[in-house]
Amino acid sequence: MTQVSYLGVGSNLGDRKKNIRRALSLLKAGGIKIEKISRIYETKSQGGPAQGKYLNAALKIKTSLPPFSLLKYLKKIEKDMGREKTVRFGPRTIDLDILLYAGKTIKKKGLVVPHPRMFERDFVLRPLREII
Ligand code: AMP
Repeated sequence: MTQVSYLGVGSNLGDRKKNIRRALSLLKAGGIKIEKISRIYETKSQGGPAQGKYLNAALKIKTSLPPFSLLKYLKKIEKDMGREKTVRFGPRTIDLDILLYAGKTIKKKGLVVPHPRMFERDFVLRPLREII
C-alpha cells in the first residue's frame, strides 16, 4: 500500500542546489515517488552554531515504505551524501526530515511525526503550505 508523506529537505554546504537535486534523484532511485516539489527558499539558519544560509524545500511523496523504513532510507541518503554527524543543528550537505506521514501521529524513540519542531519553523511551514 502506498502512503502520502511530506518531507523537508535542506542544505547549507557546498553546491546547495545540486545537493537538493541529488537527494531527489536518490529518493526516486529508492522507489519513492515525488508528487510535488515546493519552491526552494533561502533561509537563515536558526539555532545551532553560526553557519551559512540554507536552501530549503518541501516534498510531497508517495511511498510503500513504512515510517521507520522511510526514516532509515533518508538517513542512508544523508550518510551517502557525506553528511557527518558532528554538531547537533550544525551545517550539513543534506538534511531530510519526515514532516508528516499519512496523517498519523507517531511518538517513538527516534521518530516523532508530525516533526516536533516544524510548527515553529518558517523555513518548513512556508514551502509545506505550497504543496499540501
Ligand atoms: P537531525 O540531526 O535534525 O536530522 O535529526 C536527526 C534525528 O532525529 C534522527 O536520528 C531521527 O531519529 C530523529 N527524528 C525524530 N523524528 C524525526 C522525523 N520526523 N524526521 C527525521 N528525523 C527524526
